[in-house]
Amino acid sequence: MKAGIASIRKELAGIYQAEEIESLIFLIFEKVKGYTRTQFLLAKDEILCEEDRSEIGTMVARLKNHEPIQYILGETEFFGLPFYAVPGVLIPRPETEELVQWIIQENKLTRPTILDMGTGSGCIAVSLRKNIPESVVLACDISPVCIETARRNADLNSVAITVLTYDILRNSPGISFPELDVVVSNPPYVREMERLQMERNVLEYEPGLALFVPDNDPLIFYSQIADFARKNLKHNGRLYFEINEALGKECSEMLHEKGFSAIRIKKDIHGKDRMIGCSYLRE
Ligand code: GLN
Repeated sequence: MKAGIASIRKELAGIYQAEEIESLIFLIFEKVKGYTRTQFLLAKDEILCEEDRSEIGTMVARLKNHEPIQYILGETEFFGLPFYAVPGVLIPRPETEELVQWIIQENKLTRPTILDMGTGSGCIAVSLRKNIPESVVLACDISPVCIETARRNADLNSVAITVLTYDILRNSPGISFPELDVVVSNPPYVREMERLQMERNVLEYEPGLALFVPDNDPLIFYSQIADFARKNLKHNGRLYFEINEALGKECSEMLHEKGFSAIRIKKDIHGKDRMIGCSYLRE
């Protein structure tokens, strides 16, 4: 294994940072050999069979092409839970764990009915269902591969959630949703003009459909979802979004104009405006 590890280091040098390479190496051996960290450290003198070597070679070649490790492994972790990671489905991000944490904190005692709009992998819906006792969780998405993956992720985590096909921008099909306590969404929010600042692994491999919005209408999903929430939230129901760090003020103003109250922006661990939450009081 020692020679194998040295060769991976050499292949990936210059593409990934040294620390990242070490964690990739462990992930590779965890996948190929099923090793825990301790087993990995103890197995360095082992000889690798031809089959393992070729599997590792394929993984390293994909990493050299900047493919995300999560797609290569076919799985990732979110909020301490396992999730399938499939091309065509946005890879769950740590910022979104902070949004989930916030929603759990504020809603864990109320047995809420929750809808996650644009669920992707289902990471928000599944982790909320897992952590809010007696919650009823629905999730929707426009993309067939997301619908399938969200359902598989619910099964993987042994939770029951309802996953529906729904087009947020067209409001279709006309589904009669139950009255909701919570609407949550991490919709596309990266402006086309922000493409330049993005990494190759995201741009070349992750679904644009889940990421990008037009420069001239960056809140297109937010205002549609806010209108939807006005119709479908119970009195005093709550709406939560993950947001573009540059658009906190605009989001907050839009929600204010639409009649939402108790609007709060929350920063992520990097100190960036990343989440917004508000309430809807019916007259
Ligand atoms: N935070 C994600 C990224 O920068 C974007 C997620 C989204 O558009 N909802 O890749």
